[in-house]
Amino acid sequence: MTPEVAALRARMAELSDLHGISMLLFWDQQTMMPAAGAAARAERSATIALAIHARESDPELGALLDALEPWAAGEDPDSDDVRLVYWARRDFEKSVRVPAELTAEISKANALGQQAWQEARAANDFGRFRDALARQIELRHRYVACFDGHEHPYDALLDDFEPGLTTAELRPLFAELRDALVPIVAAAGASDHVVRNGGAFLGRFGADAQRIAVLDVLEGIGFDPDFMRLDPTVHPFAAAIAPDDIRLTTKYDEQDFAVALYCGLHEFGHGLYQARVDRSLFRTTLDDPVSLGVHESQSRLWENVIGRSRPFCAWLVPRLAARLPAALNGLDAEGLYRAVNTVQPSLIRTEADETTYNLHIILRFELELALTEGTLVVDDLPDAWDEGMQRLLGVEVTGPAEGVLQDVHWSAGHLGYFPTYTLGNLLAAQLWVRLQDDLPDVDELLERGDFGRVREWLREHVHRHGRKFPPRELVRRVTRSDLTIDPFLRYLREKLTDSGVLAPTA
Ligand code: ZN
Repeated sequence: MTPEVAALRARMAELSDLHGISMLLFWDQQTMMPAAGAAARAERSATIALAIHARESDPELGALLDALEPWAAGEDPDSDDVRLVYWARRDFEKSVRVPAELTAEISKANALGQQAWQEARAANDFGRFRDALARQIELRHRYVACFDGHEHPYDALLDDFEPGLTTAELRPLFAELRDALVPIVAAAGASDHVVRNGGAFLGRFGADAQRIAVLDVLEGIGFDPDFMRLDPTVHPFAAAIAPDDIRLTTKYDEQDFAVALYCGLHEFGHGLYQARVDRSLFRTTLDDPVSLGVHESQSRLWENVIGRSRPFCAWLVPRLAARLPAALNGLDAEGLYRAVNTVQPSLIRTEADETTYNLHIILRFELELALTEGTLVVDDLPDAWDEGMQRLLGVEVTGPAEGVLQDVHWSAGHLGYFPTYTLGNLLAAQLWVRLQDDLPDVDELLERGDFGRVREWLREHVHRHGRKFPPRELVRRVTRSDLTIDPFLRYLREKLTDSGVLAPTA
């Protein structure tokens, strides 16, 4: 190892430690911290964030990278150290281009924005959020202006969550997906009455009984208490403090066991990704997920592709019958499979089924693009939202709290984030096609609860690489294709026909 590589690795190890500490503070705040700790926690977290920013944008790091790049050009392009130089350069450039004053303004606007959003949502009044949102859009424009070389201003926003993805690629992909999904939803012949998961898992169940049942399911698919925890929270997430220290969360709705179950499966998918990165990448900053879309492909794969499949339902029913029998409402495996694949247009994204979910995302993407391009002004946003819900999902919005105000993202300045949820769905289906090629007996494996080979396939093809390969390159390496909607649509049509939602000719 050259002295420069050793110096870079030492810097990255320190950054990796700071990211882990910052994640631990976040996890603690969302699960354990008494409410009165919030003010002090905000100070401590801000100090860590400043320390990270100072190290990421340190001019000495820039000089070190200048010295390393000629060396990297002569090395194996796939070696860990060459990739580390690439990502350190990318993080450095993004960090130094945004002036400190703008970073401070953004951070303040995010805190104020979330406060305004909470009040507006509680009052069901968009007017109370209007100024905060207009401020966020203005700051996003200033942020975008810090970067040059992007074809479309939205590219700079996307790049924070999905490195390298462009608006020019995403727009036709999502338009095609929209045009395919709208008739599928219409053909599914939804009723007026929304019953989530076809009524499976509804009842009354205490949180303790739910926790025992969820843990039992998760242990069946690979949850290992040696390096994982499961704790309750309000908005579930998975936090990797380190690859050997994975904190999963879920929430317990006492009337609906599906919430705890599917959140648990979802966060397990995120956690497993971060737990299975190659040990050679520990403490290098390459031991992180490469993008939110790839991260989300792992959670959706366990939640939906596996978790709502017929063989998984066959495995799940006897397991739940032993732990929380009332949750099944007398359904057998086939009944459960049909129930959890019900298609039902509804108002709220986070409660949407697998089919309609992507239309909620496409609406947000269309609106974000229009706000970024300046073809939509903030005052017209609520009407544009309501029109889009009618056009895409055929539902009437009852008020801003259940419409334009339902998500926290825009209030926190997260524009360009929503598309990654649908990217995750698309990519999960692409990965599953490849996995089925390699494991043709995967249905039998799932049905008998043998999940080890699926976990191993994911580790080999996705998890172990961490952030080493940019998303586009990772997708090509694993699927031998670019991002595409066909495998997802095929998967969806097959499942909806198979579970009786769509007529076989549809
Ligand atoms: Zn997720």
